[in-house]
Amino acid sequence: MFFFFFGGLERQVRQVLKPGSGPCIFCGSRADLVHYEHVLKVFFVPVWRWPAKDPLMNCTNCSAFFPPHTTAATTAETTPTTLLDDALRCPNCSRVVDSEFRFCPFCGLSL
Ligand SMILES: [Zn+2]
Ligand SMILES: [Zn+2]
Repeated sequence: MFFFFFGGLERQVRQVLKPGSGPCIFCGSRADLVHYEHVLKVFFVPVWRWPAKDPLMNCTNCSAFFPPHTTAATTAETTPTTLLDDALRCPNCSRVVDSEFRFCPFCGLSL
């Protein structure tokens, strides 16, 4: 049985999280950080849509989607400990802890 599939998978912006959060990697224009959703279209009619887990950058000029790691602003905030290995601080009691320790010797927090 042949099943001709006229349609495709598109990405549509659901919600703009951060307008103008970085430059487009393709054309250099302003790009927004957006939540997007996949839209399955058959004969140009949306038949199924589901939201994506991770936000993407969406260019306001060329409508290209690309991952936001080029701006690196959000990832740097979540992993600050990897940058300062020899002066690791406990996130709970903020005392300097040896980076080889898996638990804080002062408050017992798992590092
Ligand atoms: Zn662009
Ligand atoms: Zn501690």
